[in-house]
Amino acid sequence: MLREGRFQCPCCDYYALDGRGRHQVCPICCWEDDGQDLDRLDDVSPTNHITLREARDNFASFGAADQAALSLVTPESERKGLRRELRARRH
Ligand SMILES: [Zn+2]
Repeated sequence: MLREGRFQCPCCDYYALDGRGRHQVCPICCWEDDGQDLDRLDDVSPTNHITLREARDNFASFGAADQAALSLVTPESERKGLRRELRARRH
């Protein structure tokens, strides 16, 4: 069962993380939180091997940080009730 975290995932914007920069894998989108945030959208994340902008675009289009994570993410039907605040996608 999903529980809400105190911090927003930089990829999917759901409140799904217990902290930031702890290399926790987001249960919603499978982005590994290496501390990168929207101010570094175009840096390739060393742990995720793509940029945060690409991961956010991926989540918007098919619901996972990348194709490989697609089978591991939480389906939309199970995300109900989880807090999400959309942040600006472009800076
Ligand atoms: Zn996420």
